[in-house]
Amino acid sequence: MAGTAQRITKNTAIVYRDKLPEKVDVVIIGGGVIGVFCALYLARMGKRVLICEKGVIAGEQSSRNWGWIRQHGRDVAELPIMMKALKLWHEVNNETNGQCGVRTVGVNYLARTDAEMQRQESWLAIADEYGLDSRKLSGNDVAELFSGQSNQQWVGGICTPSDSRGEPWVAVPAVARLAQQAGALIRENCAVRCLDTAAGQIVGVITEDGLVACEQVVLAGGAWSSMFARKHGIDIPQLAVRSTVAQTSRLPEFTTGNSADEQLALRRRADGGYTLALADRHDFFLGKDAIRHLRPYLPLFKMSWKEIRLRAFAPGGFPDAWLSPRSWSADQISPFERTRVLEPQPNMKYVDLMIDRFVSRFLKVEKPAILNCWAGMIDTMPDVVPVLDRAATVDGLIIATGMSGHGFGIGPGFGHIIASMLTGQHIEFDLSRFRFDRFTDGSQLVLGSSL
Ligand SMILES: Cc1cc2nc3c(=O)[nH]c(=O)nc-3n(C[C@H](O)[C@H](O)[C@H](O)COP(=O)(O)OP(=O)(O)OC[C@H]3O[C@@H](n4cnc5c(N)ncnc54)[C@H](O)[C@@H]3O)c2cc1C
Repeated sequence: MAGTAQRITKNTAIVYRDKLPEKVDVVIIGGGVIGVFCALYLARMGKRVLICEKGVIAGEQSSRNWGWIRQHGRDVAELPIMMKALKLWHEVNNETNGQCGVRTVGVNYLARTDAEMQRQESWLAIADEYGLDSRKLSGNDVAELFSGQSNQQWVGGICTPSDSRGEPWVAVPAVARLAQQAGALIRENCAVRCLDTAAGQIVGVITEDGLVACEQVVLAGGAWSSMFARKHGIDIPQLAVRSTVAQTSRLPEFTTGNSADEQLALRRRADGGYTLALADRHDFFLGKDAIRHLRPYLPLFKMSWKEIRLRAFAPGGFPDAWLSPRSWSADQISPFERTRVLEPQPNMKYVDLMIDRFVSRFLKVEKPAILNCWAGMIDTMPDVVPVLDRAATVDGLIIATGMSGHGFGIGPGFGHIIASMLTGQHIEFDLSRFRFDRFTDGSQLVLGSSL
């Protein structure tokens, strides 16, 4: 199945149209990896839960990513959660008879210079502290990693053999089927326009199809979360960058793992090709929110300015487009319905550069044809660390967003934590790093990992 999958686009058929219930325990806004795993675990914990998805399940980031399930290089607050998430990914993969395409293939971060190698090595102390199997690779180890097909331009690297990959076009949809089997209701093409509140407490959500009563809501809206929350007076300093990805034609299996240096990332796909991406190019579109939130992002821009290409205008239909309406009423079509699936155009210059870089690294492998390319808007926070917290000003709202480019891997872990928060179960992790008020209480922001 994973080998013959189709990419999810705005033309993908609607599958889930469960009848809109009058009342549930929890409404989840957004059918990406966070929302879907949260629904699965909530349903299994006995809660009546509804996912409202404005477009299709996994239509945005959750199917557009590289599919790396990576512990390597995580922020230390994320690492224990990610270690659990890895186990959960394997668990759901077994439950779906391998439909998520999860395989243990390792993650390899490669260095082309001694300075980069030194930077990479700093990870080993953290890995050691947490009992992770990360280890150093020599230049020869890297050559072996690529079955002798590379031009051996790396001085070495760090690998984490237990890291894995999934197949993003099929994995989250497969988990959605599990969630539905567990009793979760799922409704695609159903945007939540706003919360229904009374005296500061959630009493329901207002969707484009009508009202659903509930006392708890999870906002897992990816790049749209900030726009939604702002309607309720919550200002999330969330922005997004465009990242372009390509799928090659079938090629010999000269490497199985997920590998990246400072310029190129690649991984083997279940369909026999490779997923390629540039590790040092992201497009950042200016819009009103970008300007409003500039200040907290300055340290991040300073650290990663070489990777960011500034574009003057966020295109129409993007959350931060200049003309995107910032306010609407419950009986009006909302911006969420106007962009059912956020489908940015890929940057074709980057696709050309990917091929050049691939060819220059793997001279002995045939030049790949590009079968498919796409882009996704990666939602991020100023410190590249997600937000997972209860909203202080709206009773009953949990915000789970800003996954900052690594939410696919950690999705099951966060989904499980949110479900535990909502059912009053013990949470074994320290969540203080993910609190929302770190942006407002005067704390010094500490940048998460730059990998
Ligand atoms: C190119 C690329 C490569 C990446 N590579 C990796 C990787 O290798 N490994 C990794 O771990 N992560 C990776 N990521 C990041 C990862 O994909 C995301 O962090 C993760 O998918 C975010 O999941 P989410 O559920 O928060 O958001 P999304 O997947 O964006 O889902 C949010 C959903 O909410 C819906 N929605 C929004 N507002 C509303 C509303 N009002 N009503 C109803 N529905 C609404 C949207 O339609 C959307 O489907 C990558 C991302 C990209 C784009």
